[in-house]
Amino acid sequence: MLLVMLGPPGSGKGTQAGRLAESLNLVHFSTGDMLRDNLKRETELGLKAREYMEKGDLVPDQLILDMIMETLSADTGKDGFIFDGFPRTIPQAEGLDKMLERMNNKLDAALNLQVSDNEVIKRLSGRYFCPKCQRTYNYPANLPKKEGYCDVCDVPLQKRKDDTEAVVKNRLEVYKKQTEPLIDYYDRKSILQDIDGEREIDVIFGDLVSQARNL
Ligand code: AMP
Repeated sequence: MLLVMLGPPGSGKGTQAGRLAESLNLVHFSTGDMLRDNLKRETELGLKAREYMEKGDLVPDQLILDMIMETLSADTGKDGFIFDGFPRTIPQAEGLDKMLERMNNKLDAALNLQVSDNEVIKRLSGRYFCPKCQRTYNYPANLPKKEGYCDVCDVPLQKRKDDTEAVVKNRLEVYKKQTEPLIDYYDRKSILQDIDGEREIDVIFGDLVSQARNL
């Protein structure tokens, strides 16, 4: 099964994609997490991506497509992929379609989490993550059991550098200009599924699982 998770920054894509991957035995492929890992390890890709990420701009399409290509061609032993934070532009979506076509495969669905601008700003200003396992938490909606510490790793939570007010504003603008057109792109291919992303995390997850199981 091949799924794409769409939605503005802070819509819950990462959380929901992680849970879906676990329950459907899929590889959770988050381009944001992969880029942050490259940044931390100071790889060539990480160094190239840094200036874009710090401003909240998109990393050039070709760098992202090369990264995807490497992963898609590896045998993962799972039942498919869920792409989270990818594609972010029409050229990335077209690049993905071409790669899959060469592998005699195609996307099953694009799951679009709908969340308003106000809610996005509210969520991102209260978002923290675990530097060890990348799990995210939100104040006050999705609190860790022990304040300030990851439930799984028990290490202190951190705030992402690109979750500051100015960068969040730019990320939202970038989303509207470059990523939102993908909603139409997948609608025209009749694989778009809209999901109200402003409900309880478990309710949204239940909805996503039943939609994916009906594909
Ligand atoms: P995310 O964790 O998905 O919010 O991504 C964090 C940052 O990584 C974005 O603001 C971009 O700078 C970069 N990034 C992640 N995925 C992509 C992508 N598919 N295309 C371009 N840039 C990306």
